[in-house]
Amino acid sequence: MSDCCSLAKDKPDSKKMAAAESPFCPACGEKGKRVDTQIVKAMLAISLEAVRGGAYRFCRTERCPVVYFSVDGVQTFGEADLRERVHQKHPFDEDVFVCYCFRHTPGDIRVELQATGESTVVERINAGIRAGKCACDIRNPQGDCCLGNVIKVVKRLQNGAALVAT
Ligand SMILES: [Zn+2]
Repeated sequence: MSDCCSLAKDKPDSKKMAAAESPFCPACGEKGKRVDTQIVKAMLAISLEAVRGGAYRFCRTERCPVVYFSVDGVQTFGEADLRERVHQKHPFDEDVFVCYCFRHTPGDIRVELQATGESTVVERINAGIRAGKCACDIRNPQGDCCLGNVIKVVKRLQNGAALVAT
């Protein structure tokens, strides 16, 4: 839990997939992101009796209703099964969190940009990370740090704001 937000991006994969496992989402066919089962357990709003023994992956595809799938392809969970709405499924929704630890939404980021012309959200998240206050591994549905997503949202809104201004 303590290293969940280490600013270094890529962690080496320690686990190997068994032969029968597939990294591809059974609904959309895109490759899912490997997640620790802990985040699936943390996100599920239903009884954890449903959790299977094997590994799960996270589907990032916006149009796909599946959030988590078991790598044996048998089980899927959608947003209706979860405690949180998922940024990747609503990247343009102003009210869906993009940072789950410090509760930032694209709407909040836009309001600050419009009021001040700049965004302090990345600095504030980094300060929170340095202070050891984040818990992305159990709060963010993707199971790790939100910063990449936040930076994308800030850039998109900055570009949008620039277009409106000219
Ligand atoms: Zn999918």
